[in-house]
Amino acid sequence: MFDSYIENTLQYNPEKCINCLRCTQVCPHGVFAEGKDHAELVKPTACMECGACALNCPVQAIEVESGVGCAWAMIGAALRGKDMDSAECGCGDGAGNCCGGKC
Ligand code: SF4
Ligand code: SF4
Repeated sequence: MFDSYIENTLQYNPEKCINCLRCTQVCPHGVFAEGKDHAELVKPTACMECGACALNCPVQAIEVESGVGCAWAMIGAALRGKDMDSAECGCGDGAGNCCGGKC
């Protein structure tokens, strides 16, 4: 059974997880954490839908419609008349993990 969340399109099926921990390594927002038998979804609302976890999961335990989060940066840039290189991500991460330092 997939857990789904209203805030984003991230879906995780812990029953499929083989605990390789790749998702914990690639996620820029710490959405997944190491668990006993499978990865734990600890911050589902922090997901910015970059798609890295789903791309790297070897057993397709994660599904996400990637690209939606980054669209905020594109929309913001367009509204401010800037290009993407000068756009702020706006995710609140502050560390630049998802957008190269423009949070
Ligand atoms: S889609 Fe990106 S931000 Fe969301 S959980 Fe996966 S790696 Fe983390
Ligand atoms: S990448 Fe997939 S199999 Fe590996 S820990 Fe994460 S959910 Fe589990």
